Amino acid sequence: MSKSYYCDYNATTPIAEEVFHAMEPFLKGHFGNPSSLHHLGRGPAKAVREARAQLAALLGASDGKEIIFTSCGSESNSTAVFSALAAYPDRKRIITSSVEHSSIRKLFRHLAKKGYEVFEIGVSAQGFLLMDELKRALNDQTAVVSLMMANNETGVLFPVDEIGALVKAAGAFFHVDAVQAVGKHKLNVKNSTVDFLSVSAHKLYGPKGVGALYVKTGVPFQSFMIGGGQERGRRAGTENVAGIIGLGAASSLALRDLDQEIARLRKLRQLFENTVCDQNRGVTINGDVNRRIPTTSNLRFSGIDGEAFMMALDQRGVCASSGSACLSGSPEPSHVLKAMGLTDEEANASLRFSFGRFVTEEDVLAVAAIIRETLQYFRSFESGSVPQADGRIVS
Ligand code: PLP
Repeated sequence: MSKSYYCDYNATTPIAEEVFHAMEPFLKGHFGNPSSLHHLGRGPAKAVREARAQLAALLGASDGKEIIFTSCGSESNSTAVFSALAAYPDRKRIITSSVEHSSIRKLFRHLAKKGYEVFEIGVSAQGFLLMDELKRALNDQTAVVSLMMANNETGVLFPVDEIGALVKAAGAFFHVDAVQAVGKHKLNVKNSTVDFLSVSAHKLYGPKGVGALYVKTGVPFQSFMIGGGQERGRRAGTENVAGIIGLGAASSLALRDLDQEIARLRKLRQLFENTVCDQNRGVTINGDVNRRIPTTSNLRFSGIDGEAFMMALDQRGVCASSGSACLSGSPEPSHVLKAMGLTDEEANASLRFSFGRFVTEEDVLAVAAIIRETLQYFRSFESGSVPQADGRIVS
């Protein structure tokens, strides 16, 4: 393999140079515990405060105190939902969508077993939330509505402001899983109805193992991690100082470049999709093309086995992703694409290409050329034989 083309930025992003440089001193010399009162603790404590302000600026939060650092987006999601439930012990209805990330989807299914009345709102064929269904599900017994801002598989954006107005009219808490939106979409939580918002550093050129939860001032909060008084008593455990500094630096970088990167990635994705759709028959874009984050392109290659196609692309240097979950050794079709009405076969014929900061025009054209060549190879076996990733032909 000569060159690697990373098209899986929604899975994780490489750490940006600026982020690495900001973190480095806290991995080496500045090892003090931010809770220590001596001078070796004060430096890290100050740096953590600065990181909090950097993330608050990216989110448009009014105050760094609204940010709680966590270990990942999944922890932020659980913390928000459990906190909302604790504030409304008598309300038993909880609402989410049918296309959420497993950290919410499985949490809500777990809560259903504990006696909560769970509503999973459906989506249109374009992956857009069915607002009428949401309106019907909301009532004064609703404790929390948890919805993603941008879908990790299709990139489709939900109308957070419109949803928030409905949620507030029902008096429920509103949690937004913005893990795929932060750094790729403009945010302003200050002027929004969002109570809780989840962030994950490794989706925006920060390190893995650090996330954050925005909690609007005045919203009741119950700690998920019990122990020391870190994070103003809201999340026990010695801070992942280097990770937090990384998230802060990544936030500043994202804010600095947001407008240019959104415009650049939109153009790149357009070029990619136009090239792939023009050069090949039977390619369809999954998801609402006008309401997506600019990083994501989910493509359906009719009649193709997506897993085998993904592995064949991998052998040619292209890292993409299939939305299927591998359960007990056999791939299960993506629940997101199934919720959009795709058949198992259509869902399994779909791949996600997600782009980011280090992808160039030359890269997307090279990837499109590799897709074309690989697809031609696959299509040449359409008589019934199926090429496998290792080159074998199975009929
Ligand atoms: N929410 C969404 C939409 C995601 O895409 C992901 C990760 O892919 C998560 C939550 C979980 O984030 P983390 O890996 O930081 O736990």
